[in-house]
Amino acid sequence: MKILFYDTKSYDQQSFDTTLKDFPSVKIEYMKSDLDPRTAALAEGFDAVCAFVSSDVGSRTLEILHEKKVRLVLLRCAGYNNADLEAAKRYDICVMCVPGYSPEAVAEHAMALAQACNRRLYKAYNKVRENDFSLNGLMGFNFYKKTAGIIGTGKIGAAMCRICRGFGMRVIAYDVYQNESLKDFVEYVSLEQLLSDSDVISLHCPLMDSTYHMINIDTIRQMKDGVILVNTSRGALVNTEDLIEGIRMHKFAGVGLDVYEEETNNVFEDRSDEILEHSTTARLLSFPNVMITSHQGFFTREALTAIASTTLQNALDFQQGKASNNTVTA
Ligand code: NAD
Repeated sequence: MKILFYDTKSYDQQSFDTTLKDFPSVKIEYMKSDLDPRTAALAEGFDAVCAFVSSDVGSRTLEILHEKKVRLVLLRCAGYNNADLEAAKRYDICVMCVPGYSPEAVAEHAMALAQACNRRLYKAYNKVRENDFSLNGLMGFNFYKKTAGIIGTGKIGAAMCRICRGFGMRVIAYDVYQNESLKDFVEYVSLEQLLSDSDVISLHCPLMDSTYHMINIDTIRQMKDGVILVNTSRGALVNTEDLIEGIRMHKFAGVGLDVYEEETNNVFEDRSDEILEHSTTARLLSFPNVMITSHQGFFTREALTAIASTTLQNALDFQQGKASNNTVTA
């Protein structure tokens, strides 16, 4: 099995090369370019391509892969909203992904963001480096006995519930399905009650039509004053213009974002003044109680190892004609 690996970063190559020794029948060629209709033709002579969340696995890309006789797209991520599954079926291309590779990685990052905002760690770090040891502007609140509101209690949300319980918080949740494994310590409530009761709100549901902009000026107005909002899920769960309005209304003690609406526009790769001037992300960064990280929630050693071994196992299962739960279909 020969795989062409798109959008390679040095950490991808390291984790896949380390894992490859357990998969002697698989060979990988790495390239820096991402997969899209312009680069798909480079996969000629390969059995499979390996792609990421940023890759364009749309109809035109799949058509070219089909012409080049590629039969498998290995997504090295959990989400597959960037793949046209109808087109994949039409071109007889199998699409596989890596669900739930390390929910704790993302949940731990969500709590790190919540606490960094609460205790103003980014500000404290800079102050002390400048020899300013005063505590002005650094006061936070105890999480102990406060209420954590978790929206979406799948794999990552459940891990976040467990972490919040560890902090001695009351944990309430909103989801369209209840997670049985949490019933001993999580109380399911309506979205309205979660918004009005929570001191810390963390988003862990997928981006779908029903969740698009679920955090908007109406839902923000229902939150407690001084709430901390964390989003490690998908940027478009939050209406950024409305979030800025909420920050201006002094609704939030802190806002921690690992994802933001403009992520796919490469706002910060192209740092032209014009782009930054019109960027809502840049506007968000101008507020002292907002902390943004660059979609790094998944980025731990354990998660990268799990991604590499599951992706290579997916390749092997396909090669051996074995059915796999990691195959995604329309
Ligand atoms: P999951 O499928 O295990 O859980 C999602 C949960 O959301 C489910 O329980 C589902 O019932 C619930 N849900 C669906 N619609 C809802 C709604 N309208 N309101 C409330 N809840 C709803 O997914 P997961 O593995 O826990 O991942 C959650 C999200 O985290 C992913 O969709 C992805 O966007 C994001 N993610 C981020 C990173 C990162 O690096 N920051 C990494 C992986 C995943």
